[in-house]
Amino acid sequence: MKVRVDGERCQGHTLCAMIAPESFELDDVDGHSSPVNEEVAAGQEDKVREAVHSCPEQAISIV
Ligand code: SF4
Repeated sequence: MKVRVDGERCQGHTLCAMIAPESFELDDVDGHSSPVNEEVAAGQEDKVREAVHSCPEQAISIV
C-alpha cells in the first residue's frame, strides 16, 4: 500500500500527523504534510486509512 499527499491541497491542518505520526511528517516551514515513506509501513495501514478519511482537504490518497 502506497500513500501520497497532494501538496497543492494540503493546508497543514496536522490531523494526519496526529493520527499517524509514524507515517506523516510536517514541514518545519509551512506545516505541510508528506509521507515518511511512500510505502506504508507494516501495521500502519489502518492509521493511514483513518488519516485519509480525516483530512479536511482530501489531500491524502492511497494507491
Ligand atoms: S490532514 Fe490533510 S491538510 Fe492536514 S496536514 Fe494532513 S494532508 Fe495536510
